[in-house]
Amino acid sequence: MYPDTDYDVIVVGGGPAGSTAGALLADTGRKVLVIDREKFPRFRVGESLMPATYWTLERLGVLDKMKCSNFPNKHSVQFFAKNGDPAAPYYFSRVDQHESSQTWQVNRLDFDHMLLKNAAAKNADVFEEVRVHDVLFDGDRAFGIRAEFKNGVKKAITAKVIVDATGQSAIIAKKLKLRRTDPNLKHCAFFTRYRGAQRDTGIDAGATLIMRTETEKSWFWYIPQPNDVVSVGVVGPINYLVKGRSNDPGAVFEEELALCKPLQKRVTGSESLHQVRVLKDFTYAAKQIAGDGWVLAGDAFGFIDPIYSTGVFLALKGGELAADSIIEGFEINDFSAAQLGKHGPEFMEGIDALRKLVYAFYAPSFSIAQFLKQFPEHQENLVHLLIGNIYRHPVDGLLKAMDEYHKLPMYNPIGIDTPTR
Ligand SMILES: Cc1cc2nc3c(=O)[nH]c(=O)nc-3n(C[C@H](O)[C@H](O)[C@H](O)COP(=O)(O)OP(=O)(O)OC[C@H]3O[C@@H](n4cnc5c(N)ncnc54)[C@H](O)[C@@H]3O)c2cc1C
Repeated sequence: MYPDTDYDVIVVGGGPAGSTAGALLADTGRKVLVIDREKFPRFRVGESLMPATYWTLERLGVLDKMKCSNFPNKHSVQFFAKNGDPAAPYYFSRVDQHESSQTWQVNRLDFDHMLLKNAAAKNADVFEEVRVHDVLFDGDRAFGIRAEFKNGVKKAITAKVIVDATGQSAIIAKKLKLRRTDPNLKHCAFFTRYRGAQRDTGIDAGATLIMRTETEKSWFWYIPQPNDVVSVGVVGPINYLVKGRSNDPGAVFEEELALCKPLQKRVTGSESLHQVRVLKDFTYAAKQIAGDGWVLAGDAFGFIDPIYSTGVFLALKGGELAADSIIEGFEINDFSAAQLGKHGPEFMEGIDALRKLVYAFYAPSFSIAQFLKQFPEHQENLVHLLIGNIYRHPVDGLLKAMDEYHKLPMYNPIGIDTPTR
């Protein structure tokens, strides 16, 4: 079976960003096609949610599914210093007792599949295993896609709006050469999963642990998963983790693990579930979020280093905001760049705030503990930032204080600012 040849909206990519946009648009009665080249459930790294995902998940109507799932509850994030000492956990409920202060460590196979099925349940036409080769333009205006089906059949399908939610494939941003990489965060990740690793107990059992290695050149994530599995990965500059190192990812992983005693303690004696995998995780953004007839959402627009687990939150939020700009566009029959990218400035402000916190983590002379000693009034604002409350709680004061403490760079995808460290 093939999709129709004309839609109101085509969403390319059925990850969190695409499923969100597809579900919300279809829910308003629009004729929506969501296409993904893979067969779901499909693998993705990136299992830790930020609590602020709650609000988009609520709007999508999937909170009950989340509550009934076997995803571990995440109440906090805890950082470990290079000498292995843990800082006190940042409990999210400290700033808000609402149930949204607890979130989940998801298995992305199940989570992403659940979101895609939700889009189908809202009457979006969902097609898997269909590869989009190109977005079709008439001058500057996007008007369709060229897709290839599993059996080799190729079809052109048209729509008033194309949402690019293709993740790091970023089909439109690459075609139009809009992507700008942050020169300061050219990182990569080596990751695997273990069964039976040591976990904390009680409220801390589902916490994300962020552990610096002794050299401070890399850090590990430790993310509890269902069925006694834990996702573990090490992140660092590509120059450090790849150049001049072994070609065997497992060997590099072991070398870094030897530099992280608290993690070693947790995984010793547990069962490694698969070979170590490697992914580039450069921070980048497109210099434009929308054009005539097209809009970008999720990683197809931008990606920030995974230190604070921002990716899925920004994908959900970006999909939601893009859907809102499109819904309004249909009301006034306006599919211009200005209308489809209406949410861009506010969305970027939030991303900039999160990126600043990323820079603080990597700046050798920025100590969060010392910063909070100097600015104790910003303790709670910092927790708001870790929750992802960038669109619900003002964090300007915190960002100003961070700049006062230590001038942090501002990366601007339109003209990259070289940071002063
Ligand atoms: C090392 C690492 C660790 C991370 N850790 C976290 C974390 O702990 N928490 C977190 O929130 N985020 C994390 N992330 C980020 C997170 O995984 C992504 O931000 C998130 O998946 C983005 O969702 P998306 O919908 O934009 O893209 P994706 O989830 O990548 O979905 C894009 C979809 O588009 C489809 N597609 C691509 N090209 C085509 C095409 N041509 N035709 C048809 N379909 C196509 C793909 O098959 C895919 O299903 C991490 C990322 C990395 C690299």
